[in-house]
Amino acid sequence: MKLSSKLVIAAFILVIGLTAYQLWVDFYTSSSQEASIIITAEAPVEKQKPTVFYGMVIDALEISRDKIKSRQHLSDILAPYNVSKEDIYSLSKSAKGVFDLRKLRVNKPYDVVYKPDSLPTAKALVYYHNDIDYVIFHLDDSIYTEKKSKEIIVKEQETTGIINSSLSVTISEMGLSPILTNELADVFAWQIDFFRLYPGDKFKVIYEEQLVEGKSIGISAIKAAVFEHNGYENYAYYYDQGTSIDYFDEEGKSLRKAFLKYPVQFSRISSRYSGSRYHPVQKRYKAHRGTDFAAPRGTPIRSVGEGTVVAAQYGKYNGNYVKIRHNSIYTTQYLHMSKIASGIKPGTHVKQGQTIGYVGATGLAAGNHVCYRFWKSGYQVDALKVKLPSSEPIKKEMMEDFGLVAANFKKQLDAIRYPMEKVTASIGGSQ
Ligand SMILES: [Zn+2]
Repeated sequence: MKLSSKLVIAAFILVIGLTAYQLWVDFYTSSSQEASIIITAEAPVEKQKPTVFYGMVIDALEISRDKIKSRQHLSDILAPYNVSKEDIYSLSKSAKGVFDLRKLRVNKPYDVVYKPDSLPTAKALVYYHNDIDYVIFHLDDSIYTEKKSKEIIVKEQETTGIINSSLSVTISEMGLSPILTNELADVFAWQIDFFRLYPGDKFKVIYEEQLVEGKSIGISAIKAAVFEHNGYENYAYYYDQGTSIDYFDEEGKSLRKAFLKYPVQFSRISSRYSGSRYHPVQKRYKAHRGTDFAAPRGTPIRSVGEGTVVAAQYGKYNGNYVKIRHNSIYTTQYLHMSKIASGIKPGTHVKQGQTIGYVGATGLAAGNHVCYRFWKSGYQVDALKVKLPSSEPIKKEMMEDFGLVAANFKKQLDAIRYPMEKVTASIGGSQ
């Protein structure tokens, strides 16, 4: 073989070798690319979270909301949802001891969770008994009734307001709960006459609000507040001394006197104690030895202090009334009740704030109100003007701790700006 031929063969082999190498590289690269694609495909794709409704996975299910109608039973509600009579029977049986089906109330909301086939099939019924409690009637794999409660979240809130007309109007204008009016009026009941507020009176409150699904359902407690009345600042701090929780001023004196000032929560005084007033029913002037609080029929009437019932009966003029002896000095009486509370009879011991009856218009009364009468040492006096002793102050051994708690709250209160100050501050801030 000639040298040239050998070279050609060598070149040929080289070309084949290079081509093979190239093919191999191509293959390797492509396969590695393929591999990387596979890896991508295998990378964890974010899985769609299942839709959960009160603990039930409801993917591919639908929810229909409605309200309980008059005389509607479980079977009526479930009638359009392909539930057999036998299953309704089992469901009713499962409810026994969990939820009384007679307690399905008109206008209360419910949800039917169902499978949207040509014939929709109910999987569950959720009935909302109130803002917190609800009942789930399960109709899926197994039939059972479950009573549950929504989670209550307690959140600390702050607010401030300036009185233009009344506390309740101011608070409702601010879009706050009327419960706050009642609570605030109770905290300062002995310091401030809430029926005689001055325009410009102002307040700051730190309180605990109870929220369910982001919606306010109530106020658990006012933690601290300052109410500036007629130019004077009244501070209140909530403190638990072990035996009782109460409100105290900065010196640790209780804000609560031995009695509640009002026998009903914040309402309206329709007639004050007076030596001579025109009687609306009898149409003549006579002394009114009581304070009338107008309130809707059925409003609970509470005993202003601890004591013993000395009378609980009906009288031609007084209507249904209750009289309570608190101690050797003080006696109170409550007239015109629609109903005396059950268990209230002569000899019954009552606690401060205990419901003793309900507002009505029995006896000689023009409208729903409670006539509240007050005796001091055997003489009838004006309940709103009588001077009463202070309740228990902070105990000596608790004073240091109370001082710290109160100081922290005071700092927090003082940092809140009154609405007026907010305006001033924003004008001043532009300088
Ligand atoms: Zn009266």
